[in-house]
Amino acid sequence: MRVSLPMLSLLFAASCATEPTDAAPTVRLTHLRGPLWIAEDTFFAPENSMVYVGERDVTVIGATWTPHTAQLLHERIAEITPLPVRQVLLTNYHQDRSGGTAYWRRIGAAVLATRRTEKLLELHWDRLIRDIRTTFPDYPVLPLVHASQSIAEDTHLQDGGIRTLYLGPSHTEDGLFVYFPAQRVLYGGCILKEQIGNLDSANVKEYPRTLRRLVALGLPFDCIVSGHWTPVHGPELIDTYLQLLASREDATGAESGRSTPAR
Ligand SMILES: [Zn+2]
Repeated sequence: MRVSLPMLSLLFAASCATEPTDAAPTVRLTHLRGPLWIAEDTFFAPENSMVYVGERDVTVIGATWTPHTAQLLHERIAEITPLPVRQVLLTNYHQDRSGGTAYWRRIGAAVLATRRTEKLLELHWDRLIRDIRTTFPDYPVLPLVHASQSIAEDTHLQDGGIRTLYLGPSHTEDGLFVYFPAQRVLYGGCILKEQIGNLDSANVKEYPRTLRRLVALGLPFDCIVSGHWTPVHGPELIDTYLQLLASREDATGAESGRSTPAR
């Protein structure tokens, strides 16, 4: 494959955001608070998912990139608890949140998605696989594996310990926030991060409105876990991202370059 200079710089930017370039990709778990752990999956464009170790079983927030990264995460979970993984929640239809679905279903976990996410998976899966392989040629050609259970957009899991929130289009049309009320933590997934990221599937008009709806809810979280780059932030990450969206609009008025693929 011929690799152009711009593509080389894309690959470099993607691979060095959270890891030294010579480090082999890994999946690692770091404890956050109470039942909450952060899973850092440094394959492809590094992503952060979450793990909730409940009293009876484990819920994984985000299926991770591929069946292989899902298996690695499962191995890390087995090191911290003997409890089984029973539920895996897809927070949007992109492969960094849904690519590991086949593995989780194979081990008998329920893979949960909203109808909106299921519909987008069906519409865009094959195209997204082609797109991602132009940036990451070693990303596997995975067939679409559907979620096993439809959920409402405001679902409660783990006896209310986990709440999903859909507040409108943002980075994708279907992106969910996940709120952990007892720990005062919000998982922002692909929606909230320290860089603008990939807006290829974004609804840039609705994105700030969705973030303002989140602020208007007044949820008392004091920690936001981001789906890309540095995982742990304070609530100011919402303002940071609103400013990134606003300055992008000021600078271009239209489309920006694709500076950070697949995030
Ligand atoms: Zn993402």
